Amino acid sequence: MLDTQKVLILNFSYEPLQFCTAKRGIVMVLSGRAEKIESNGYIVRSPSQNFALPTVIRVLKMVRRNTGKGLAFSKKNIMRRDNYTCQYCGVRENMLTVDHIVPKSRGGGTNWTNVVVASKPCNLKKGNKTAVEAGMPLQKKPFRPSFHYHAFVIPSASEEHLESWYKYLPPSLKMRSSLN
Ligand SMILES: [Zn+2]
Repeated sequence: MLDTQKVLILNFSYEPLQFCTAKRGIVMVLSGRAEKIESNGYIVRSPSQNFALPTVIRVLKMVRRNTGKGLAFSKKNIMRRDNYTCQYCGVRENMLTVDHIVPKSRGGGTNWTNVVVASKPCNLKKGNKTAVEAGMPLQKKPFRPSFHYHAFVIPSASEEHLESWYKYLPPSLKMRSSLN
């Protein structure tokens, strides 16, 4: 339960930083690194104390964010940017890989604008062709995400949880949620 429930971590400035497990969130509060901002009324009982499960916590020291350089390029972050969705056929499933729009063998770069999430069938079908040659248009133009993007794949959660998070997240993020 404490491993599946998520907690939204806010920066000292109340800007959203990321999600963590409820377990980690509680540890952060108990160790004095964060304070509880919102809870959903669910009570966690331990031998020594009972307390309301937090849904939003705030760190007590400003966390400096790497806004200048942006997000590190990685397969995981490509998955997040593309919302775990094949950019050719739109399927969302577990058998996903990443695809070079212009194949590496044809000089295509391994970077934000040439790599997208693809299902295995689309990846195979496309083979050594470019997306244009294969007649496989992309669902959206790939881009280099800003820092904000990756942190806010909103985990699945109860309505109460979502409502308490939305207060601290930009409205545009309400449309987005993760696969699980
Ligand atoms: Zn596909």
